[in-house]
Amino acid sequence: MVEQKYKQQHRQYAVIVVGAGMVGAAFACLFARANPQLQIALVEAHEGASYTSEKFDPRVAALTEKSRSLLECCGVWEQISEKRVSAYMAMDVWDAEGTGRIRFNCQDVHQPNLGHIVENSLVVESLLSEIQQLGNIEFLCPVTVASYSDSEQQVSLELEDGRRLSAPLLVAADGGNSTIRQQFNFPTREWDYGHSAIVTTVQTEQVNQQTAWQRFMPTGPLALLPLNKAGDQHYCSLVWSQESDEAERLMALDDAEFCQALSLGSEHCLGKITAVDKRYSIPLRQRHATDYVVERVALLGDSAHTIHPLAGQGVNLGFADVAALVETLSAAAKRGNDLGSLMTLNKYQRQRKPENLAMMAAMEGFKRLFAADNLALRLLRNMGLSQVDKLKPVKNEIIKKVMGL
Ligand SMILES: Cc1cc2nc3c(=O)[nH]c(=O)nc-3n(C[C@H](O)[C@H](O)[C@H](O)COP(=O)(O)OP(=O)(O)OC[C@H]3O[C@@H](n4cnc5c(N)ncnc54)[C@H](O)[C@@H]3O)c2cc1C
Repeated sequence: MVEQKYKQQHRQYAVIVVGAGMVGAAFACLFARANPQLQIALVEAHEGASYTSEKFDPRVAALTEKSRSLLECCGVWEQISEKRVSAYMAMDVWDAEGTGRIRFNCQDVHQPNLGHIVENSLVVESLLSEIQQLGNIEFLCPVTVASYSDSEQQVSLELEDGRRLSAPLLVAADGGNSTIRQQFNFPTREWDYGHSAIVTTVQTEQVNQQTAWQRFMPTGPLALLPLNKAGDQHYCSLVWSQESDEAERLMALDDAEFCQALSLGSEHCLGKITAVDKRYSIPLRQRHATDYVVERVALLGDSAHTIHPLAGQGVNLGFADVAALVETLSAAAKRGNDLGSLMTLNKYQRQRKPENLAMMAAMEGFKRLFAADNLALRLLRNMGLSQVDKLKPVKNEIIKKVMGL
């Protein structure tokens, strides 16, 4: 039984955010910086993993320039890049079932890089450290929410330790399995891919060439994302999506067998895989809430949409949600409007839903195209990849889209 040491405490805020993952922490930080007159509560159930220079976090994200610049606006990019980021200059994508191959280079679009690989724990830790410096956010962690209630003007949360919090707006950034989404009955379209992603850090015989390598197999994509350990480029982050049975088999292999399977799976694009860290298997589901908002509640990031990791777009979409919601709410606050009214929140939804849906549909199409074992489709995708590789203007448009430019 959790001690209810704050039984009598009831605090009022302008906004309550639940979930301090990358998206919730970025939202709280950016909104608090833009609106120093407003009080914000950020509630998180778990103390997150800390960044260490010796080991890489197995969870990383490939950030677009737009996302990097959002973290700069949060005041944390310098901190992150001083510790560890890996810029990537090229992307090499090829089809396991044929000859199709495409290579994107940052020089083709006159950019210094295509994006940055960052460790999730470092992003969260930097955002939380910035949040501690701000006078208008209360960070409540670790604590879970015991109950939610809402009235016409307010949402109230009762925490397990007895504290009560109220605000005209609740922002749900509590991830793919969002309890708030369920609690407030947001209809959601969702399906199981029957796939799991094996994630870990590996060491490679050859240097990673600051290139993101992605091989499409009928069973799912395999990605090796370049990491940089104090100038040593023999490290990559692995995201290997596989049918769940195959993922289970690969997880059961010992390290030497796994390295061998991965060397073959990656077609030795970086020579042999020489070492592997602890592996994690993450079941993959696609989810999309039909609406992102109801009166008094807004869904943000993975709580609104969870997308297949093959394009590395999940948190990039989440950060774009953050920018849109901060802009909408800051404008409403300036005019003295109700932050949690449906009229205010609908502007955020109108801005974000079409873009998120388009990206999810594109990724779904891509995933199905590469899973198809119909001969005509296989020929088409092989010819398609190689043809696009030769068509500079088309290729450059794709790069810009992937970079979020
Ligand atoms: C294998 C893999 C690879 C990926 N690679 C990329 C990539 O390269 N690029 C990219 O853009 N995206 C990538 N993604 C997607 C990206 O990881 C997610 O989109 C992102 O982490 C979502 O962040 P979030 O803050 O919305 O949710 P989460 O990270 O899930 O955070 C939710 C937070 O809420 C907290 N919480 C949950 N419930 C409660 C509660 N009731 N009370 C209090 N706190 C609560 C949790 O503890 C957690 O801290 C990848 C995903 C996977 C699975």
